Order: sequence, then structure tokens, then C-alpha cells
Amino acid sequence: MISVAETATLILSKAPALDLERVPLASALHRVLREDIAADADSPRFDCSAMDGYALRSADDGGRLRITGEIPAGHDSGLEIGAGECARIFTGGRVPSGADRVVMQEDVEVEEGFIRIEGGSSGSHVRRQGENYRRGDVLARAGRRLRATELATLANCGVSLPLVTRQARVVHFATGDELIAPEQTPTGAQVRDCNSILISSLLVERDARLVLQQRLGDSLEAQQAALAGLDFDVALISGGASVGDYDFTRPVLKAAGFSIHVEKVNLRPGKPLVFATRGTQLAFGLPGNPVSHWVIFQLFLAPLFEKLSGCDAGSAWRRGRFRKDFAAAPNARETYWPAFAEFEEGEYRLQPLRFVSSGDIAGLAGANALVKITPNRERIGEAETVDFLSCEP
Ligand code: AMP
Ligand code: MG
Repeated sequence: MISVAETATLILSKAPALDLERVPLASALHRVLREDIAADADSPRFDCSAMDGYALRSADDGGRLRITGEIPAGHDSGLEIGAGECARIFTGGRVPSGADRVVMQEDVEVEEGFIRIEGGSSGSHVRRQGENYRRGDVLARAGRRLRATELATLANCGVSLPLVTRQARVVHFATGDELIAPEQTPTGAQVRDCNSILISSLLVERDARLVLQQRLGDSLEAQQAALAGLDFDVALISGGASVGDYDFTRPVLKAAGFSIHVEKVNLRPGKPLVFATRGTQLAFGLPGNPVSHWVIFQLFLAPLFEKLSGCDAGSAWRRGRFRKDFAAAPNARETYWPAFAEFEEGEYRLQPLRFVSSGDIAGLAGANALVKITPNRERIGEAETVDFLSCEP
């Protein structure tokens, strides 16, 4: 039986480097950028008005000024503002030459082709060229996962086909004669399959592409046939990872030419984890209990997909304290307890969640952390600092 830390290191050491590709911005959400993006121009590109108002020379502040034209956003006016003159200007409009200030329309009185500035107007209301950033400034770094704001930044500087990592292709089989679809009503000893939606949702969060998901019975032949000839980077097989007479994950992987590296991890929940490779392909046998699934995903698969995607978000391990003394039934295995972590007054505080058994999926509602509890610990005092894994993508 190997440790969680050794297992995690081993899995990451087998992660292949995935190819890069260019994709349209609209398809790049959650993908990982693999090139630095530098601004192609200053922002703003020209001095522009931050308000609806009148552009004028600061020296003319206070007098009666003649309106010489109008400057809506997006139009080059060609105006030149001289002494005693101003131009009607709208937000985003290019400040005309000669002018260096905009007076808000609320601060002027308009009389037949002229304005008079009322007392108390202040501020330049001009956004200066380059005040946001300068041409050549690096606005997004390689290794960054692209969210809405990063995509908008790329759009802003004309990057329509960013270079990103191709998505890992994942196949998932939920195995077990007892499994039925969530929309079905169980009869006899049937159980609704909740691991399939758990896995497919977790994969979306980590930007891995589920290319096939299928429920299979406890049959060696059926499982072998399902795996044969598939193209994938990572295969996940739920259920059947242990050593019972109906646990076929290991024989199936062996028959398909995989080398098995891990069969048992010193971990609760999730001990019977199988990890195998065939060339650059990785395969995991996940114990069927849903809580084990979630824990294994967070401990091993989330970091794997982060690495495959080229994301350099850094370690998800944090330190924090329980809100109250925490009493756990002592266990010989290293335990990962689901919790809700909140950052408060400079530190993380942890609320342990219900963990009756590894079948208790409902206890995970709201979980965003896994607290590491070393073997045989009985009580962890409120003052003690513990390690936890942040489970937020
Ligand atoms: P196994 O790992 O196949 O021995 O399954 C362990 C437990 O998890 C059994 O109680 C199974 O019924 C349950 N289980 C297996 N797969 C699923 C699934 N996809 N959804 C819900 N429960 C499952
Ligand atoms: Mg089973």
C-alpha cells in the first residue's frame, strides 16, 4: 500500500505533454493559454472623453464658449479647438486637438450655440492615451486558465485565435450490475448511478473532454469490449476496482495491455484505487462509492488535469483551523475529511461536513475542501493548524 503523496507524485510523473492548438475565442473558455499576450496598442489608443459634455481648453474654464461641432464615439471630428471654443462630445469620443479637458453636460448652461460653465465644475474627465496599459505590456501570461475576463482582454488586443493546450480526451465507464439511470426508479437491489454525472461535471470544471461515457454491467467480456479500440488520453472506470469476484477493472486493464502501478493507497475513503498506463495513456480504477470518487478526483485527477492542460495555478494545498474542536473516529489510514473552507480575518476556517460513510454523497453538499487527517488522530483542537486541499477549480 503506498501513500497518498507517493501516488500523487507517481501519477503526475506519467502525465504526457498534450499538443497545442489555436482555437477561436468563443471556444477558448476554461482553456489554458500557452503564449504570453502583449498589448498591440496603448489603451485607450487615444485621449477620449469619460463623460457626455463639452471638450475645451483648460485655460478657458469659466467663460462663455462657442460650440464648434459635435464628436460622438467612433467618429473622427477633425476639429481643432481654439481659445473661446468648445465641442459637444460624448463618452468614448476622441478628444479633439487643442482641447485637454471635458466639462460634464450637467455643469454647463447651453444658450444658442454657446455654453456657459457653471461654478464648481472640476476634473479633466479625459481618459488619457495609455493610462490603462501601454503597447507591448504583457496582459496575459502563458499557463493562465482563460476565464471570461481574460477572454475579453484577448479580444481587446486583437487576439482572435489564442494558442491553448488541446483538451485531454477522457472515457468513463460506470460499472456495476446494480446501476440504473437517475431517471429510473430502482427496484430490488438496484442503485441509481450518480458517479457518471459527478465525473462529467468535475471534468467540465477542469476542462477535460469527455468523449465517451457508458454504464456497463459486471462482466469481464463487456468491459473488455467497451475499452477495445478507443482513442483517449485518460480512461476512468468507476466501480470494480477492488478484489471481489465481480471486480474486473484490473483484469480488464491488464488484458488491454496496461501496466498497473498502483492497486491500493493508504487513504480513506478510496483505498482500492487502481492506476495504470499504456504508452502515454493513463487509466484509473475508481472505487464505486461516490464520496471515494470525489476524494480521488480532488486528490489525484484534478492535479493531473491541471498538469495536462499546462495550467500553472500552483498548489491547491492550504493551511487552516477547524472552527471547533474536531473529533474523528481514529483510523489507521490517512483520512481526507470533506469540509467547507472560508477565508476569514487572514486565515482559513474549516467546517467539517457530514461523512457517515463513503456512500453518503449528500454529505458533500457545499464541500470545497478536504482536510488531511493523519492516521490514528482522535481529536484535533480548534487551535491546531491543519493541511487541507482546496477543491475549487
Ligand atoms: P464497487 O467499487 O463496485 O465495489 O462499489 C462500491 C459501492 O459503490 C457499491 O455499494 C456500489 O453499489 C456503489 N456504486 C458503484 N458505482 C456506483 C455509481 N455509479 N453510482 C452510485 N453508486 C455506485
Ligand atoms: Mg461493483
